[in-house]
Amino acid sequence: MIQVAINGYGTIGKRVADAVRQQPDMDVLGVAKTRPNFEAETALEKDFALYAAIEERADQFAEAGLEIAGPVEDLVDEADIVVDATPSGIGAQNKSMYEAHDTPALYQGGEDADLVDTSFNARSNFDDATGADHVRVVSCNTTGLSRVIAPLREEYGVEKVRATLVRRGGDPGQTDRGPINDILPNPVTIPSHHGPDVETIFADLDIDTLGMKVPATLMHMHSLNVTLEAEPDAAEVRELLADESRLFIIPERMAIDGSGKLKEYAMDVGRPRADIWENCIWEESISTVEDDLYLFQGIHQESDVVPENVDAIRAVLGEADAAESIERTNETMGIGL
Ligand code: NAD
Repeated sequence: MIQVAINGYGTIGKRVADAVRQQPDMDVLGVAKTRPNFEAETALEKDFALYAAIEERADQFAEAGLEIAGPVEDLVDEADIVVDATPSGIGAQNKSMYEAHDTPALYQGGEDADLVDTSFNARSNFDDATGADHVRVVSCNTTGLSRVIAPLREEYGVEKVRATLVRRGGDPGQTDRGPINDILPNPVTIPSHHGPDVETIFADLDIDTLGMKVPATLMHMHSLNVTLEAEPDAAEVRELLADESRLFIIPERMAIDGSGKLKEYAMDVGRPRADIWENCIWEESISTVEDDLYLFQGIHQESDVVPENVDAIRAVLGEADAAESIERTNETMGIGL
């Protein structure tokens, strides 16, 4: 059994903990938090061993009546691998601790690409992570773009990608984020940083991205234009994408007109936390004009990277190949709408 430590038990960390626990070949050794709050209480209710991420604050847990198993260093030391799901920039600060305990680490998309040996997307470059000590699971947006680009490159060849990312202002729990009533070019500079981030997965890809932020919390929306090296018809592309296990092609008959109904659908089918691990591509939007492909996709920012973290654990430890790992993760989590 692979013993997994989770450092940072927030939006991403708590989801990764649940997903890891579902795996037949993995155990959650424990989770580390900085302070007692509702998530710390839930972690204990779920029987996760809770470790103090910051030793000087360990007393706060006792004062709140929450039992701590020890300092995060103990957890890191005993684990086969640590998933760092701390806020952007904190992962970089934690790197020396993981090195000191000789424990390989996964970081999240908020960290810089040069912190790690390789960036990771299961569908696109699984093998690059094998044997690496420091691996970054790319951001929600980069994960969403990579999953679509990989099959298009393999099947047709890609000349150029242009994507406009309409980004949610904050996650539902992020009460300090915005805008509340505005539409921001964000970042206002063009191209945005997202394109270079996708190039950490596909080094030779030609991609330009533009970003905006809108008053929404549920999901991101991508408007995508891919210039292909072939001229397939739209039906053919729809079939190609429908064969991908982490792409959900929203059928026209479902009458899902946006992220509100997508989340409603996720709740109706009983998804935990209404998570949507798959890219959600509107079937009717998949269109071709000569060698140009167009589509709209919704990306659930809080959850699409979760199965990628699970696969990255196996990739780093050499415990499965890409196809085996993706299939095992999909099956245990129930991925595939
Ligand atoms: P979050 O704020 O929801 O959770 C981070 C958790 O880490 C919090 O519980 C916080 O208390 C804890 N923490 C803070 N300092 C810590 C420390 N020193 N040691 C241990 N824990 C500490 O953040 P998040 O949204 O889960 O983001 C985590 C990472 O995942 C970031 O790199 C982010 O860019 C990336 N990411 C976030 C999203 C998203 O939409 N939320 C999507 C993809 C990737």
